[in-house]
Amino acid sequence: MDLLEKYEPIIGLEVHAQLLTESKIFCNCRNLYGAPPNTLTCPICLGMPGTLPVLNRKAVEFALKMGLATNCQIASYTRFARKNYFYPDLPKGYQISQYDEPLCQHGRIKIRVNDTEKYIGITRIHLEEDAGKSIHGSEDTLIDFNRCGVPLIEIVSEPDIHSPTEAYAYLTKLKQILEYLEICDCNMEEGSLRCDANISLRLKGQQKFGVKTEMKNMNSFRGVERALYFEIERQARLLEQGQPILKQTLLWDEDKGEARPMRTKEESDDYRYFPEPDLVPLVIDSEWIDQIRATLPELPDAKYERFIKQYALRAYEVNLLTSERALADYFEEVNKLVSNPIFISKWIVSEILRVLSQEKISISNFKIKPAQFAELLNLITNETITPNVGKEVFDKMLTSGESATSIVNREQLVQVRDDAKIEELILTILSENPEEVNRYKSGKKNLFGFFMGQVMKKTQGKANPEATMRLLKKHLD
Ligand SMILES: [Zn+2]
Repeated sequence: MDLLEKYEPIIGLEVHAQLLTESKIFCNCRNLYGAPPNTLTCPICLGMPGTLPVLNRKAVEFALKMGLATNCQIASYTRFARKNYFYPDLPKGYQISQYDEPLCQHGRIKIRVNDTEKYIGITRIHLEEDAGKSIHGSEDTLIDFNRCGVPLIEIVSEPDIHSPTEAYAYLTKLKQILEYLEICDCNMEEGSLRCDANISLRLKGQQKFGVKTEMKNMNSFRGVERALYFEIERQARLLEQGQPILKQTLLWDEDKGEARPMRTKEESDDYRYFPEPDLVPLVIDSEWIDQIRATLPELPDAKYERFIKQYALRAYEVNLLTSERALADYFEEVNKLVSNPIFISKWIVSEILRVLSQEKISISNFKIKPAQFAELLNLITNETITPNVGKEVFDKMLTSGESATSIVNREQLVQVRDDAKIEELILTILSENPEEVNRYKSGKKNLFGFFMGQVMKKTQGKANPEATMRLLKKHLD
């Protein structure tokens, strides 16, 4: 896009993450996705007059975990605020949120784009309740209040993001941290992770910000990236034509690949924020913060650095292995039994990740457990079977659930390492293919692969590759 040479995009992201608490943020109703409509409600989350909210301690704890994991300053004194607006899925007529006294502020996270590291500032992380859901039919709209009062954290970034690619990397990192902390299941399709974007453009070198628009309704990280590209192009075209950018909210339509205006954006004044009178201020002492800090797991950046140092793996593989905490654990479990990190990582990246993406499952649902996988890898490293046969055994383990050893024994897959046997086979193959032998000898050296293939074919991949290569060279060269 040529216009990106001329204009600099300024992007800020607002991410809403539903917290995985047992109950809702201000009542005892269960916090659960997918229950029949309006079965998880009570007078409090339905906003009945005379009810009072009681804050869920776990929700605060989860929000603090995210604040600590993103290097935020934690407020020692914080208050909730009423955000007043009318919408059918908001029975109280207001949402309990936080306004000028958020729980966490001034954090940052590290992202990597094209091998360059960069920090993106976190303006604030605050706690609030979710609203219900309107379900639009062809003739009517139904409302499900189950989501009312589900705890949310809103994570607001600084406008430090300058391209859709950086936005994608930032979101991926946030999701990774939320998953490492086990405080959100980050399922965008079910709405447990949602993202809105603010976008403006300015001429490169200019200090003043341009007019920003807000983009909503993206339901995947790729969707966010596409919507940002669309909006940057749209704004750049308007600026080129000397037309004004209107301050408005746009709805992204993933199927059409375009956005349409929704409404002119409210100023925060329109929400008439004021301190929530039904809740006392929240005082967070340093002892509680220390307790929570002590429960934090090893976070993605620390794990990444440690894997690079401890296992001497390449950045590319470490990135994949540490993308999910459970996958990193899987790798380390296997390594305890095989202790060959490079070999294990190669197998995980090329075989296991392939299966996970084909079956659209995560490593926690993967059939072959670390000990069983280690057994297979050990059969390869101790040369009981060849790597090629290993791949076959891996596929069979997936379908039958059997152990590697029993598959190898039953199907007699132990590799042929006896030089005399391999040599005998080679001589037969050479005499059966005189023409190829002549062509090889007259300089067509890439026929070597053909001979290797013949040996493997006749032994169903069981011939020791090194011995085969050595003996083939002896007879051909
Ligand atoms: Zn309730």
